[in-house]
Amino acid sequence: MPKQIYDVIVIGTGAGGGMAIKTLCEAGLKVCALNAGRKLDPGKDFKNHRMPWDMKFRGYDDPKKRAQSYGYMDNEYTAGIWEHEINYTTAPGTVWMWPRCFAVGGKTNFWGRSAARMGDIDFQCASLDGFDVNWPVKYEEIAPYYTKTERLIGVASTVQGRPSNPDGDYIPPMNFRCFDWILKSGADKVGVPYLPDREAQLTQEHNGHPACHYCGNCTEGCDIGAFFSSPRYLLPAAEATKNLDMRTNALAKNILVDAKGHAAGVAYIDRNTKQEVEVYGRAVVVAASTVESARIILNSKSRFWPNGIANSSGQAGRNLCDHIYGTTAYGHLPQLLGQPPFPDGVSTAEIAWLPRWQNLNKPHEEAFIRGYSMYPDGGCGEFPELRGIEGFGVDFKREVKRKYPTPVNFGIQAPSLPSPTNFVDIDPEVKDAFGIPVVRVHFRWGENELKMWEHGKQVSREIFHACGAEYGGCNEHPQIPGWSLHETGTLRMGDDPKHFVTNKFGQTHDVPNLFVTDASVFLSCTDKTTTLSILAFSMRASEYLADQMKSGKLSA
Ligand SMILES: Cc1cc2nc3c(=O)[nH]c(=O)nc-3n(C[C@H](O)[C@H](O)[C@H](O)COP(=O)(O)OP(=O)(O)OC[C@H]3O[C@@H](n4cnc5c(N)ncnc54)[C@H](O)[C@@H]3O)c2cc1C
Ligand code: SF4
Repeated sequence: MPKQIYDVIVIGTGAGGGMAIKTLCEAGLKVCALNAGRKLDPGKDFKNHRMPWDMKFRGYDDPKKRAQSYGYMDNEYTAGIWEHEINYTTAPGTVWMWPRCFAVGGKTNFWGRSAARMGDIDFQCASLDGFDVNWPVKYEEIAPYYTKTERLIGVASTVQGRPSNPDGDYIPPMNFRCFDWILKSGADKVGVPYLPDREAQLTQEHNGHPACHYCGNCTEGCDIGAFFSSPRYLLPAAEATKNLDMRTNALAKNILVDAKGHAAGVAYIDRNTKQEVEVYGRAVVVAASTVESARIILNSKSRFWPNGIANSSGQAGRNLCDHIYGTTAYGHLPQLLGQPPFPDGVSTAEIAWLPRWQNLNKPHEEAFIRGYSMYPDGGCGEFPELRGIEGFGVDFKREVKRKYPTPVNFGIQAPSLPSPTNFVDIDPEVKDAFGIPVVRVHFRWGENELKMWEHGKQVSREIFHACGAEYGGCNEHPQIPGWSLHETGTLRMGDDPKHFVTNKFGQTHDVPNLFVTDASVFLSCTDKTTTLSILAFSMRASEYLADQMKSGKLSA
């Protein structure tokens, strides 16, 4: 029987892969999608409407498994969904947390939905502050793709005219909560912007998707699809074209090459049978998420590519970046003591944000370059964030109730700078459960981002003071690297093949029929969240790939 050759094989079905699959299928190309895990059933897998007392371990999962948990999102509500079978190692001195969701749709099933555009302050950063290099794109090239993406997925926000944050095409924002208005009064006095965040969560019906009913616990998945996820917003459109062959539990191992060293297909492990399978295509798109995409590229060795496919530059795996996260201040608002409870945590959304305000007039105004953003949180959450209440019995409960609406905090999102010492490579000693060499992470926070962390703590305290909040403290240290889930770099894009893995369309310089469409092509993680940009860049790269293929310029 002649072997089947697809037009394109896409590895990954999350933000980067899902958008590529939809765009390519709609362009009429036959696509085979490989996804490392299973397909979720929202009716069974999303337990977000259950109360903690309905859960055997009150939502926290089996105590025996807690030591392996990746944190707040990897709990009893999502038991068995986060990936623990595929291991990784860290170099001496590195602490790295790597939460991976290998279900169809990847992390978009559970993401936080904050969806800001990047702009020329990010893309042309090196021209401003002299550090590293500019991205190979200007904002005007990518802006139409942001608009198309926002119209497709629905982003709730307002037009804000901030120099650091281009505005987009928005549905109405979520309302501020009481504590937002109080914190905002402090931010106004300190001169820091306090505005509605950009949230890919529906405040009204949009493109056939229902509006959010503010039940909460979105981080356990939304069973009605009121926030963007790849399985709800991208993959059904691809399936409708009948051009998609989706293979689940298919763990991509390496990219196959032809007699010219170009991509010819993908070898993957069927996780059910543990057998290796080969699938063939005229082009391959890698979108397995930043670190895993680098692993696949580096593990794709052949006589043409002894250091990994398309890695003549030696840059594959280099310049891993991540956001510093951490609580820069916590405390409570005495103004809200004894107020009736209000469901402030109803959407677990970043309803408000403090978009970057530093280094806007001059790139070296602060002790650090570039900038960071912050997110406020607080009020009546499902689990009251109350510290330091003493007492017992009825008095204790009364005090808890009185203070229930009052807790507030700020969290920072500060980008690490690209650094030659932050990278991933393949561990020469260790293999995963399927015999595939694992990735090894080398990463430490740098001086610039740690200065932002200190700055964020100081400004948060000033805002607390200015609005009459009682300051309780802050995290002693930021969260460990990897925790933010916003990793970028490792397969960066640029015009010069000697220094970059892909061109500005995510097409690898060395192998014209091999593309990358996740955040591994980003030059740095900027002060913005990554997913909206992954979607916009993936749409643009996939349209380019389809055009190239149709015009015959892409020959394997
Ligand atoms: C709790 C949480 C909060 C977040 N909050 C935000 C936020 O507010 N804003 C924001 O922008 N981002 C946020 N993120 C991050 C966001 O989810 C990611 O940026 C986005 O999903 C990345 O898209 P991706 O396609 O690169 O990876 P993913 O969405 O993780 O998809 C990767 C895909 O690749 C597949 N895969 C991996 N390895 C292989 C392999 N070897 N073979 C085959 N398939 C493979 C996986 O199965 C998966 O389908 C959050 C994430 C989480 C979990
Ligand atoms: S709050 Fe809205 S988006 Fe979140 S799970 Fe509930 S309905 Fe879905």
